[in-house]
Amino acid sequence: MNGVILNMPLDMHLHLRDGEMLLDIAQQSGKTFSGAVVMPNLVPPVSSKEEVLAYRDRINEAMGSEEFEPYMTLFFKPTYDKAFLADVKDQIIALKLYPAGITTNSEGGVNSFDLEELRPTLQAMSDLDIPLCVHGETDGFVMDREAEFMSIYEMLATAFPDLKIIMEHITTKAAVDMLDRFKNLYATITVHHLVITLDDVAGGMMQPHLFCKPIAKRPEDREALLKVALEAHPKVMFGSDSAPHPQHKKEACGCAAGVFTAPIALQVLCDIFDQHDKLDNLQAFVSDNAQSIYKICPTFKEVTLVKKDFIVPEKYAEVVPMYAGQTIPWTVESIF
Ligand SMILES: [Zn+2]
Repeated sequence: MNGVILNMPLDMHLHLRDGEMLLDIAQQSGKTFSGAVVMPNLVPPVSSKEEVLAYRDRINEAMGSEEFEPYMTLFFKPTYDKAFLADVKDQIIALKLYPAGITTNSEGGVNSFDLEELRPTLQAMSDLDIPLCVHGETDGFVMDREAEFMSIYEMLATAFPDLKIIMEHITTKAAVDMLDRFKNLYATITVHHLVITLDDVAGGMMQPHLFCKPIAKRPEDREALLKVALEAHPKVMFGSDSAPHPQHKKEACGCAAGVFTAPIALQVLCDIFDQHDKLDNLQAFVSDNAQSIYKICPTFKEVTLVKKDFIVPEKYAEVVPMYAGQTIPWTVESIF
């Protein structure tokens, strides 16, 4: 067969939004993925056990008949104490830390990385074995934000050696280099950052549907990401960071950040791994690594993809996907 079978694909970083958008796009992930780590940056952010449970219910409802496990996250606040975290632990997979104001709906994030301020919550998470997912960017110059954040990762990884820290959606060689330096640092990588650089976003005509945070970087950064993804480095997981916005918020003055890849992620990953003759490593990148890092057993799903042209729809509801209207060389053939 000129194809590949993926067992229990997982998206370890996903924005499902809420309300009408959730209803419109949820099944685009639910069809092909066994589960996803769902980001908590709603308005207001998901920051209590009640909000986690209610959001999970809304997601399950939006999924309809799709077999899909939403792995819930809680919006990190340095005010959470151990009793609160112990109570919510069984309902979540991780906490997600945003520096304040760094991306969509992150205004309530962390204002300072003063270790003593963060210590009680992070130590409690470490004790309770709750992973910390981090949007790792400073408020510096846009191309340097992630690299500048490495000293914060280093500080956190050193101060809390038993805390699992996931560097979310890494985009730089600097972040890739951190993986082998600290045993408790892991990473997710999106599909679009394996494909594009800043040139694709702004090198010619402005491409709003490729504009995201963290912004795509230089060719050498993409090469570094490709290397660890293609070899399925055991500390690296696929996380799409698929982040839908309605078309009018992307094709606008003040374009919202986010690339919508949920419906095409697996097809494009097949193409990338196929082009590099590494299809054998794709299973680890899209599921096995995440299962061992997070110690999860996803519900069964078998997705068969074949090398056959697929024309990407212009829109899914009000959302324009990456590669809208273009032909990509891989297609989802069947799902069991
Ligand atoms: Zn994200």
